[in-house]
Amino acid sequence: MAGEPQDDCLFCKIVAGHVPATIVRESETTVAFRDINPQAPTHVLVIPKAHYPDAASLATAAPALAADVLRETQAVADEDKLDSYRVVFNTGGGAGQTVWHAHAHVIGGRGLQWPPG
Ligand code: AMP
Ligand code: ZN
Repeated sequence: MAGEPQDDCLFCKIVAGHVPATIVRESETTVAFRDINPQAPTHVLVIPKAHYPDAASLATAAPALAADVLRETQAVADEDKLDSYRVVFNTGGGAGQTVWHAHAHVIGGRGLQWPPG
């Protein structure tokens, strides 16, 4: 069923506490943790606790939850005192998505090029 935990999903395992992560924030519906391979001084992933494979399917099936994720990206940026930052949802393998549980990358703490690579 949509949103149910998936046994083979790394981020569902982080939500369940079965894989360790450096958690920086948790809400009733979301978890935010530091990326294991940071691309900037701040590189935090914000995920819904429920499993959806990507941002678009999350927004379609559970729009209020998608809004929770977006709100948490701001909270992460505030905690790290970032006035500029980037929120990225890689969607599809060609765009670099490697984990099929929706996640927002919050990236900041250094100058960011536009357009991105
Ligand atoms: P994406 O490539 O957009 O699917 O993003 C997946 C991100 O998850 C990558 O930036 C990885 O560095 C990160 N990642 C993979 N495994 C872990 C982990 N165990 N803890 C924290 N971040 C992870
Ligand atoms: Zn999952």
